[in-house]
Amino acid sequence: MNRIETVVKELLEELPSNVLLVAAAKTRTADEVISAIKAGVRAIGHNYVKEAKEHYDAISEKVSWHLIGHLQKNKVKSAVKIFDIIESVDSFELAVEIDKECKKINKIMQVLIEINSGRESQKSGVMPEEAEDLIKKISDFDNIRIVGLMTMGPFLSNVEAIRPFFRDTKALFDHLVKQSIKNCEMKYLSMGMSDSYRIAVEEGANIVRIGTLIFGNRQK
Ligand SMILES: *Cc1c(COP(=O)(O)O)cnc(C)c1O
Repeated sequence: MNRIETVVKELLEELPSNVLLVAAAKTRTADEVISAIKAGVRAIGHNYVKEAKEHYDAISEKVSWHLIGHLQKNKVKSAVKIFDIIESVDSFELAVEIDKECKKINKIMQVLIEINSGRESQKSGVMPEEAEDLIKKISDFDNIRIVGLMTMGPFLSNVEAIRPFFRDTKALFDHLVKQSIKNCEMKYLSMGMSDSYRIAVEEGANIVRIGTLIFGNRQK
């Protein structure tokens, strides 16, 4: 067993059975991703459409493909062919494009709404207080199904300081569940990365996105 397989096995044993492990694969080789899949990873997360396409073509194992990075509108056409779920929808304009391209290929895309839980001006994600309006507008689309929320949270040197942002996002999630919005099934809450996944799970995440812990440090 290589190091990647060992770490993945340990992670899968540690995570509660209702929590989906997404292996965040940016900058990794297809072989590294295949090691993770051999050890039991069932979902691969990508930030860039081009990199995802390379892995998608090279990897024959049946896994689900998650887009976790910011999606530019001019990449939507290629993205909808690859991904099973887009975790980073944060604007109406992006949703319009996704719906349009999915119609052409007769696909219903599952999406998460990305929340800017730290309310940071330079970060992607919709402001928490604007999420409900955005979801209601997107819920009119036939080729999009909203299935939950995603958040990154701010980068803080003290990792425990991220907890309130995860907690707020879970509260927003619970609020949205109660609204019973049509075409919107709030079932996934994607929060937590290598350094914060334990906190995220404690605060109610059922998707964690982990890269560094599985694959090692990324080359700059
Ligand atoms: C890179 C990335 C991750 C994983 O981060 P690590 O610290 O390497 O675990 C999770 N989510 C998103 C959106 C990312 O870009």
